[in-house]
Amino acid sequence: MKVELLPALTDNYMYLIIDDDTKEAAIVDPVQPQKVIEMVKKHGVKLTTLLTTHHHWDHAGGNEKLVKLEPGLKVYGGDDRIGALTHKVTHLSTLQVGSLNVKCLSTPCHTSGHICYFVSKPGSSEPPAVFTGEGSGVCPGDWAFFAKTLLVWGDTFLLQEKYSIGEPTVPSTIAEEFTYNPFMRVREKTVQQHAGETDPVTTMRAIRKEKDHFKVPKD
Ligand SMILES: [Zn+2]
Repeated sequence: MKVELLPALTDNYMYLIIDDDTKEAAIVDPVQPQKVIEMVKKHGVKLTTLLTTHHHWDHAGGNEKLVKLEPGLKVYGGDDRIGALTHKVTHLSTLQVGSLNVKCLSTPCHTSGHICYFVSKPGSSEPPAVFTGEGSGVCPGDWAFFAKTLLVWGDTFLLQEKYSIGEPTVPSTIAEEFTYNPFMRVREKTVQQHAGETDPVTTMRAIRKEKDHFKVPKD
């Protein structure tokens, strides 16, 4: 499996997932279709699948146009509000992209119909990847600032290391996310205290709301 990271708009990412065996490809949240088409050409792969994490315009806003440019695309998502949707999925729905397995995980938090896509190659030692459409909702700089503002991160060093070499926070590993992503840490006392809550679910709701209304202060 090859994953190509395509910066989109000013602060999002699209992901081109390529199955090396069959040269079939899927795109996650193609908000800028023209860029996707160029990347598909560059790699000489066949784009068959469009995976949408959620219906917001900065993730699903390119669906209709991409389907016009690439007729026959299968468009997956977990929400009827997603443009050009052809295959509605739910929790644990599965699909194939060439020889790759994609499992859909319902994560109703940012939006009610949010789906994360867990992609793996059966019978291979390649590490699987999960595409969340989150953490890319703000630019990496904003994300770091948000995490800092919350004062809830664990391993700041890791976060700073990522920035000092100019890497975006995505892609990351789940282990890394557990050290700095407040949403992965709602079971921790410090995070719950920040939110003024005592259980993971209400803590999640509180910091979700906080991030939705979060703006990086202009200096
Ligand atoms: Zn969104």
